[in-house]
Amino acid sequence: MDANQRKAYKARIKRTLENLERNNFKATFVNTKEEALTLIKSLIDEKSITASGGSVTLRDTGIFDYISNNTDYRTDYKDAYIADFYLSSANAITEHGEIYQVDGRSNRISAILYGPEKVIIVAGINKLVTTIRDAVVRVKTLAAPPNAIKLCKDTPCAKRGICVSPECSDNYISALGCDSDDRICCNSLIMAKQRVKDRIIVVLVGEECGY
Ligand code: SF4
Repeated sequence: MDANQRKAYKARIKRTLENLERNNFKATFVNTKEEALTLIKSLIDEKSITASGGSVTLRDTGIFDYISNNTDYRTDYKDAYIADFYLSSANAITEHGEIYQVDGRSNRISAILYGPEKVIIVAGINKLVTTIRDAVVRVKTLAAPPNAIKLCKDTPCAKRGICVSPECSDNYISALGCDSDDRICCNSLIMAKQRVKDRIIVVLVGEECGY
């Protein structure tokens, strides 16, 4: 990223953080993955009960290693509901201050919505989009195909590299897709204004992380 791109991103990041805060998320920006890990270490100590959704971002940043080795990390999906901290990435974050998540089994989005005392969402700059429509397209074209491959799912996107319905239809938003039993985008979550202020902490990282 050159100086001009950084300047352009700076304005977008500022707008996104302001709109996330307006929606009652606690939003913060860090420049690097290392800074993201340092921030997480300052928030979560060894006594904390933690759980997480599957996430390349959490692995890329070293955050998964930290919480799984240094805190009371729970692997049972149901324990996520009593965690002090639930950690996840995002499939996309819009400049309007919304967070978009898509799940197959949906343990991740259900825990994000209700249960854990605090939720921390760590997302690289590659997850930043303008609108929810862009977020939907991002998942279908950039996020789901490599995720399906990583999870060894027998889906069309794993073979074609793109969803069978890669656009965002006005009538179906993100409902259109494949009929595969292995489908990984079954339920979609759009997080907008939160009632509980600062329950969800968003850490936007100034580097590409995950898909
Ligand atoms: S609907 Fe099916 S083909 Fe489309 S992205 Fe999801 S899993 Fe892949």
